[in-house]
Amino acid sequence: MNRVLIGTAGIPLEAEPRTSSGGVKKLSELGLDCMELEFVRSVQMQEKAARELRALCEEIKIELTVHAPYYINLNSKEQEKVEASKARILKAARIGWLAGAKSLTFHAGYYHGDDHELVWEKVKQELTEVRRILDDEGNRIRLCPETTGAPSQFGTVEEITRLSAEIPGVYPCIDFSHLHARTQGAVNTYEEICEVLEYVGKELGRSALDHLHMHLSGIEYGPKGERQHLALTESDMNYKAVLQALIDFDVGGWLICESPILEEDALLLKHEYTQITNNIKGGTTNG
Ligand SMILES: [Zn+2]
Repeated sequence: MNRVLIGTAGIPLEAEPRTSSGGVKKLSELGLDCMELEFVRSVQMQEKAARELRALCEEIKIELTVHAPYYINLNSKEQEKVEASKARILKAARIGWLAGAKSLTFHAGYYHGDDHELVWEKVKQELTEVRRILDDEGNRIRLCPETTGAPSQFGTVEEITRLSAEIPGVYPCIDFSHLHARTQGAVNTYEEICEVLEYVGKELGRSALDHLHMHLSGIEYGPKGERQHLALTESDMNYKAVLQALIDFDVGGWLICESPILEEDALLLKHEYTQITNNIKGGTTNG
């Protein structure tokens, strides 16, 4: 049976010192499993620090994922901005790989009112080049464009899955809260969440579900989609249904909690996940 590793988007709030090393040590103390390096403004980590972090994570058994900078748009009208976007992904991927991170996520871009099929082609073309450069360097970090929270942003489940089907080394990052916000309230029942997992498994094969990069938090949304992340219990996000579906589809990988109370909610998810798993082992849900 696969296991989902659960952790925080960035350094836990209680961690001291406020460094990535301090962060992973705190997660280990709390009994959590992974941390996403939030390079969301820029990639500040140096190579030496990345190597040291890798050694520490191996020792205390914390896995890492990476979030590349927000300022990425592979569909910009200005090719200069597209090049800068690719450079940001590459920089985050290189430092992440040195730090031992297994998977990198990013928001691929905006539609800008363009035909969605043309946007998909453009993103595919640019991402193929990024993947090729990393492959040439021997960098095998998983490149995972994320399902996004607003209808103006490229990133439906179908678009992301199709990129993954056509570019080897590219995989989906499923942000369940974004899907919920993007659809203004759908993707929140057990059945709807199962449909997403079933689709990914059907299109990409079972192995895509063995190492799935995921995000989950509470979320506030409106007509334009995502407004802000919330604590799980302060939102209508049906996180229990998400966890149940992950267990029923035998999903493995990394579930990163992006709620404002980071580790508190990550622990809530971990507790709930463990409880469902134990119930299955004890046969109480089958009996
Ligand atoms: Zn994101």
